[in-house]
Amino acid sequence: MTYLGVASSAAAQTSVAPLPPPDNVQQLLGAVEKIVLAGDVVGYLDLVAGNANRTRATDFSRTEILPGATRAVIKERERIPFGSTLQPTGYRVVADVFVEYGDVGRVATWQLDLQRRSDDSLQIFDQLRLTSVERLFRLSLDDERQFTAQKLAIHAEDFDLAFDGGSVFLSAIDAGVTAVVLVGRGDMHFHPKPDTEKTQVRIFCGSETLDTPFTAAFLRMDPADFQQFVDVGRLTAVALDPRERKRADEIFRQDYRKSYHLGLGDLSSEPWSLLPGTGNFAAEVHTRRYGVLTYARSKNEPEDITLFDRLRHRNIAAYSSEETLARRGRFYNEDDLREYDVTHYDVDLAYSPGRQWIDGVTTITLRVKASFIQAITLKLADPLIVRSITSDKFGRLFGFRVNNQNLVIINFPGAVTQDAEMKLTFAYAGRLEPQLLDGAETVAVGQDAPLDGPEFTAEPTYLYSNRSAWYPQATVTDYATATLKISIPPALDCVGSGVPDEGWPKIVGSKEEQSERKVYSFTATEPLRYLAFIVSKLQHVETRTLAFADSGRTLTLSVDANPRQVRKARELAQSASDIAKFYASLLGDVPYPTFTVAVVENDLPGGHSPAYFAELYQPLPMTVQTWRNDPASFDRFPDFFLAHELAHQWFGHGVGWGNYHEQWLSEAFAQYLAALYAQSRRGDNVFAGVMRQMRRWAMAESDQGPVYLGYRLGHIKNDGRVFRALVYNKGAAVLHMLRRLIGDDAFFSGIRRFYMKAKFRKVGTDELREAFEQTSGRSLQAFFEQWIYGSTLPRVKVAYHVEGNELVVHADQLGDVFEFPLTFSVEFDDRRKTNVFVAVAARSVDRRIPLPAPPRRVSINKDDGVLADVTQ
Ligand SMILES: [Zn+2]
Repeated sequence: MTYLGVASSAAAQTSVAPLPPPDNVQQLLGAVEKIVLAGDVVGYLDLVAGNANRTRATDFSRTEILPGATRAVIKERERIPFGSTLQPTGYRVVADVFVEYGDVGRVATWQLDLQRRSDDSLQIFDQLRLTSVERLFRLSLDDERQFTAQKLAIHAEDFDLAFDGGSVFLSAIDAGVTAVVLVGRGDMHFHPKPDTEKTQVRIFCGSETLDTPFTAAFLRMDPADFQQFVDVGRLTAVALDPRERKRADEIFRQDYRKSYHLGLGDLSSEPWSLLPGTGNFAAEVHTRRYGVLTYARSKNEPEDITLFDRLRHRNIAAYSSEETLARRGRFYNEDDLREYDVTHYDVDLAYSPGRQWIDGVTTITLRVKASFIQAITLKLADPLIVRSITSDKFGRLFGFRVNNQNLVIINFPGAVTQDAEMKLTFAYAGRLEPQLLDGAETVAVGQDAPLDGPEFTAEPTYLYSNRSAWYPQATVTDYATATLKISIPPALDCVGSGVPDEGWPKIVGSKEEQSERKVYSFTATEPLRYLAFIVSKLQHVETRTLAFADSGRTLTLSVDANPRQVRKARELAQSASDIAKFYASLLGDVPYPTFTVAVVENDLPGGHSPAYFAELYQPLPMTVQTWRNDPASFDRFPDFFLAHELAHQWFGHGVGWGNYHEQWLSEAFAQYLAALYAQSRRGDNVFAGVMRQMRRWAMAESDQGPVYLGYRLGHIKNDGRVFRALVYNKGAAVLHMLRRLIGDDAFFSGIRRFYMKAKFRKVGTDELREAFEQTSGRSLQAFFEQWIYGSTLPRVKVAYHVEGNELVVHADQLGDVFEFPLTFSVEFDDRRKTNVFVAVAARSVDRRIPLPAPPRRVSINKDDGVLADVTQ
């Protein structure tokens, strides 16, 4: 997620081989550079071969060679010889061209086709502009003007700066003022409207609005919006004060690269800036108390208002503006903004764990969703250098890197229209570290204390999954089929996304030449959200195939393990098979035909589960005491982690989520399915223990925000346990309450219905609600509103007594009115026990419940089934 709508582009395409000493291509580019600087169109045409090519050359030079240049730089990026490599008849050359016109700049990429003349010099016979970024600005503070202001108010949605007094400096371009520096004293007020964001602001600063003094601020806006933000009538010109000016300049230098900035690599060492575009706004506010806080409006983001803490690198708030809400409604799916859909990945790579080196060729098949596109943005980790990009439509293409954003932008020479299919093939290489065994979509419990005791070295495992873009991919997760080929050193083993292909791995190369490699091949015929693989020393433990009569599907289950974990892995193989059978019967389906459990050593228990496999961490001795106190650790049921990870094949991969808010759909189902499995294997007491722990964590952390806040839960405090307590455990407890409210039949058929409808799509809470509404025949709007989008908990006072064979209940809700089930545990004289559920959906509820016999004892909420504060 980007915090500002900071477009930036065009760091150079990296050339891999060093350029040869100055030669005729470089001489020609040197001549063109001089021509561009001189704005000499005629001079350019003199370099063009033959009259026939002049018309195109004239058109080209009209837009590309303009008068008034003050500096020009041309850098060769790529050279492809025509004819034989030894005696080429010419070259296709791609070059980046940067031209300054005073404080305005322009960067373009040209493709020049050159042909050799009899005297060995080169002529241009064709040329094409591949891309350009216009109107870049070298900003600086206005040297001559200084203003004072009293009671200057700057206002943006939910954000105010009250500048009591001090100096004001401006930075202007031809179109007007685009940056303002305030130096003096004032107060910042950030007062978000959504309750959820108020809670996050309270967690940050202790109060629902953030009111704090500031000493300086840097504001950035489009020149067209300047007057809307700054009341020019309040500015009074004064004589320049060098000390104030110096202070303002420091602020300016510190802040103006933070947004709308473009790094140009070897074309220019200076910072160049893009215009924000109307409606976009950024304020860097220097507060005494919190360091620099950044407020931003970024029109193109679904959550277009953000407040960011620069010092701690934390999002404090992120939400949709009133305008966005009015246009789009409350919920969004990140897929709605996609311009293309990747349908297939074909990844072929060589991986060397010693150097952490990846050498890959990936072909992406995509279909255009927008009415047309002229460029495409893909994700690829910055350390990976793109060697070439080719497309079946356009032949060789050129990609631009975007500064530190793990993106590649490719401009097409022509438009590609809706529904067109195209293939893009990338060759790339670089050193990329494997991802740590924690973080998003990984459950690894938190650690209370640093480990001590003797060092125990875990077998190294290298995981490449969804944390870094180790292959070129869509910018948001995108269901696609895939093939994956990986070559690794022969002493190691690999587990990857997809069905392991028959006859693989194969050993290639020769031992004598030390070129031996082991090559794995996987095919994912069912779509997956992202690809992953692990490399480690693994021993194959066993394979078994499970057949499911009701869906006609089979699941081939394999278990591999680090050598020391083989014995443990044998036990896990039996559990994994039981768990898979249980889930397949519950959901009536198996999303992927194979599943491999890789049992690997790690300091902490936990796991990570991409589609088709899971990595399950086996904690080493000596670490056990440190992780017990975590919402994701259930020490009375050690198979819980395996059951959780395995459930992600159905929820998380089989069903995906539409944006970060909806992650609970994956984690809560993984938790709840694991709890149901615990119940089926180990009985009601173990299940009750699991639910009790979930309830305890969920209730303790509920005030940190709604389940719907996703990864942002605990983010400001940097406490992952808050996230797990709410997204995992509260989410699961909410499903449990729903089950009691609508009954087992409606609940389990609702899960199936949701799963089948949402299979291989990214969906949201509203689709889950609709599925349960269908099967239960009632509205669940209020239920989800309170439990998923809200963060308060019900408080209920309950009175009950027995009249003959009837249980008489009176319940009063003391706070917000919620919908939830109350459990009465009833024990009869013959020691039989039963649970009776009473639905509470109004402020006051009176119910008389007939019982089969007079009870001996009645108790309430003994099963910890409701997330309410229950008093009697
Ligand atoms: Zn999980």
